[in-house]
Amino acid sequence: MTTCREILAWCDDILQTAQFKDYAPNGLQVEGAEKIEKIVAAVTASRAAVECAAQQGAQLLLVHHGMFWKSEPATITGWKKQRIATLLHHNINMVGYHLPLDAHPELGNNAQLAKLMDWQTDYTCGEQNLLNIGRLKTPKTVSELTAEIAQKLGRPPTVVGNPQQTVSRAAWCTGGAQGFFQTAIDEGAEIYVTGEISEAQYHLANETGTVFVSAGHHATERYGIQALARALQQKFGTEIYFFDEQNPA
Ligand SMILES: [Zn+2]
Repeated sequence: MTTCREILAWCDDILQTAQFKDYAPNGLQVEGAEKIEKIVAAVTASRAAVECAAQQGAQLLLVHHGMFWKSEPATITGWKKQRIATLLHHNINMVGYHLPLDAHPELGNNAQLAKLMDWQTDYTCGEQNLLNIGRLKTPKTVSELTAEIAQKLGRPPTVVGNPQQTVSRAAWCTGGAQGFFQTAIDEGAEIYVTGEISEAQYHLANETGTVFVSAGHHATERYGIQALARALQQKFGTEIYFFDEQNPA
């Protein structure tokens, strides 16, 4: 048996949460029971994830996307009220780690995506070191890589580039990091992989020859939270369960 306090202290230390400037609180976002036996991990603290945590009898819902983003209204109404009411009713702690979980060199979303795809990280750079620069351990054509991403992430990516081009030097950042494309180009990447695409990246890819791959925000960020949950299981012996949902974005 462990306490929520111990889990939070360990996560803060391992993820170095104090080092990051983030736009949502990292750590405890909604307080619940003090004693923790079971953790449900999910990418987002959606209503479905909250309900799963309640059904599973978990005392802690561990997520990458929590609530209370800077851009949101501060009021607790509508869908937000529903989520929070369920958490409070079942005495479930909701704990979120955002940028610190993207960036962690082993447990992070970027590191875990690289592990899944067999990519080598050479260094990190850009805003808060969130951009990974490295290479595919085996050079591949864009069409081979597209097929591999579709198979491993369970969804076909959106790709802008020549399918016959062979690529090796890669840059990646999971989630909504299409804004880092220019930095990836500046670092000499042949291909940039992230979770989302906006209108401008199509033109940049065409005009620079750097291939752009949008592999899904949810799909690219499924792995860090599971790695963190497994680390907590190892450290504290808590039971863990991963809740996933089919988010097309
Ligand atoms: Zn994200």
